[in-house]
Amino acid sequence: LYRIEHLQQTYQNRTVLDVPDLSIRKGEILAVIGPSGSGKSTLLRLLAFLETPTRGQILFDNFPFTPLTAEMPLALRRRVTLVFQRPVLFNASVRANVAYGVRLRGEHNHHQRVEQSLREVGMEKMVHVRAHTLSGGEIQRTALARAIVLQPEVLLLDEPTANLDPYNVRLIEELIQRLNRQQGMTLVVVTHNVFQARRLAHRTALLLEGKLIEVAETPSFFEHPADSRTRAFIQGEW
Ligand code: ATP
Ligand code: MG
Repeated sequence: LYRIEHLQQTYQNRTVLDVPDLSIRKGEILAVIGPSGSGKSTLLRLLAFLETPTRGQILFDNFPFTPLTAEMPLALRRRVTLVFQRPVLFNASVRANVAYGVRLRGEHNHHQRVEQSLREVGMEKMVHVRAHTLSGGEIQRTALARAIVLQPEVLLLDEPTANLDPYNVRLIEELIQRLNRQQGMTLVVVTHNVFQARRLAHRTALLLEGKLIEVAETPSFFEHPADSRTRAFIQGEW
């Protein structure tokens, strides 16, 4: 679905992401792990077409996104939704926040889908609560509901369970698997939690200092890592 070729992202002469070659398959869950500052969020912003690459290209469904592409066509951008690491909600009710995107797209009769999305993330009892009073975990779950209500083909999740208690971690992990299995959704999940990658992902990729160190099927990634740095990272020694 995606093909990344010689992708580099540079901010003020500092290259923070350098991925020569990576494909993302339709219908897979790909986990991206790596320490803080390794370029995980930058990669997701590029996959969502929110910034233009400095060098190289991302082919999405064979359509090229390059330094010369000012903007991806709306029809392609709409197939992808990113949930930010620190989501921002409007100062309005939870329901209004979740309904906003579908309303913006002029989709009517979205009421049931909004309710359904809120149930999926366990926020159905808080539909009328105003967003500025929510806890960090509730904000994160509301942002996830706001994303899935759009029914994207690709969902990019940046640390989706970072602020959650164990009950809600499980709820969200089960939701991710359901979206993948029942709707064939392609998911890229950024997580600092190697156990979560192991539980969820078909394939796992490791970024270190902006470089893609290894990407492999999750069982072999964890059981037989090809790179010594992968071994060190999953043993918590990085
Ligand atoms: P974390 O796990 O802490 O979220 P990350 O792997 O998501 O980290 P990124 O947010 O992708 O890391 O950042 C990678 C590097 O790029 C960091 O050193 C960051 O300071 C830098 N960076 C990211 N965005 C910008 C920007 N817009 N301008 C300048 N530097 C940036
Ligand atoms: Mg990040």
